[in-house]
Amino acid sequence: MYPRDARENWYRGQGLWGEVPAEQWNDWRWQMRHRLTSLEEVEQRLELTAAEREGCLLARNKLAMAITPYFFNLIDREDPDCPIRRQVIPRKEEMAVSPEELLDPVGEEGAMGVDGLVHRYPDRCLFLVTNVCAAYCRYCTRSRLVSNAQGYDFHPNLENALRYIEEHPEIRDVLLSGGDPLMLSDKKLDYLLGRLREIPHVEFVRIGSRIPVFLPQRITAGLQDVMRRHGPVWMSIHVNHPKECTEALSEATEKLTMAGVPLGNQSVLLRGVNDDVPTMTSLVHRLLMMRVRPYYLYQCDLITGSRHLRADIRKGIEIIRALRGHSTGYAVPQFVIDAPAGGGKVPVNPEYVQEITETEVIMRNFEGKEFRYPLITADNGKQVPAEAEWIPEEILL
Ligand SMILES: *Cc1c(COP(=O)(O)O)cnc(C)c1O
Ligand code: SF4
Repeated sequence: MYPRDARENWYRGQGLWGEVPAEQWNDWRWQMRHRLTSLEEVEQRLELTAAEREGCLLARNKLAMAITPYFFNLIDREDPDCPIRRQVIPRKEEMAVSPEELLDPVGEEGAMGVDGLVHRYPDRCLFLVTNVCAAYCRYCTRSRLVSNAQGYDFHPNLENALRYIEEHPEIRDVLLSGGDPLMLSDKKLDYLLGRLREIPHVEFVRIGSRIPVFLPQRITAGLQDVMRRHGPVWMSIHVNHPKECTEALSEATEKLTMAGVPLGNQSVLLRGVNDDVPTMTSLVHRLLMMRVRPYYLYQCDLITGSRHLRADIRKGIEIIRALRGHSTGYAVPQFVIDAPAGGGKVPVNPEYVQEITETEVIMRNFEGKEFRYPLITADNGKQVPAEAEWIPEEILL
């Protein structure tokens, strides 16, 4: 049993920006204007290690650095290994490319229907609507295009992508991502969602966004209106560590839910951030308290310069095993590896089935105890009457 997660510990306040009027602090435009984007701005507030200093200087050629004041406050400035810090402050290790690493680690470029639209699975597509985010995650799968530090020059043509979706009736599910789709204005989002809703074969629309985590102030009444108007729109947020579950995030998820948006969470398993059982246990419980259902736990993709952040896959399996049965079923995400070179998401599970014999399944439960369940075999099938005369004909249809 892990300790209960006392709700009183959830972060609130303005921290280093205590003198800023609340009205400004709570305005997402103020947060965006005051993002920390240079070595100097970060160093004024945080003592950096040599590896971080170098990382900050080199970041502009790889993946830009940007941190909202709100998110920066969550860093423990006394701890060089702070899990928040590891996610957003660049380190020189990012510049080292290991042999297994790739610029496009999950082969998205090869699956583009049109620029900015990845059509890998039969019934759904990934629609990249922007290349900007409120802050940048050092392990981003799309660092090749996000923030445009590598000169990718991503100019998504929304009309081309919409036309592609219109012309492909097999597309039932559209996932808006980027970059962060909530960087679009309410007006643009309203238009985009409206267009998608007009396509009769699009049944399911969802948004992948880390903005509730980096910039919860963006979840405004205006945005709620857009979500309500085009709902149901689902959303996957991206929370990696229990420290990110603050009062502000909780208010944002509350607003989204009240606007009819079902919420899931996608975490990335990161070394020294969340690759241990107590951290992930606390995270998933906090998510449920905020009306968010843990959806995926991703093994970190083989993105260039990510080795220092990639965790051991066995750790991920151990975490799922520690959750299953020991906690609420709703709290357990699916652990997946997005297979390199375009294989798509592959679930990775602890083994519960030990063996399937001719007659039974031999399995172990969450406590490691063995159980058996019989198979329906040709032989015992004969014991079932071929025609179930006792079912009234009218309900057999
Ligand atoms: C992850 C992903 C999706 C969505 O997959 P789900 O398992 O339905 O969440 C769709 N397209 C691409 C290219 C993806 O990477
Ligand atoms: S918010 Fe998403 S797209 Fe943006 S940097 Fe982070 S992982 Fe990449």
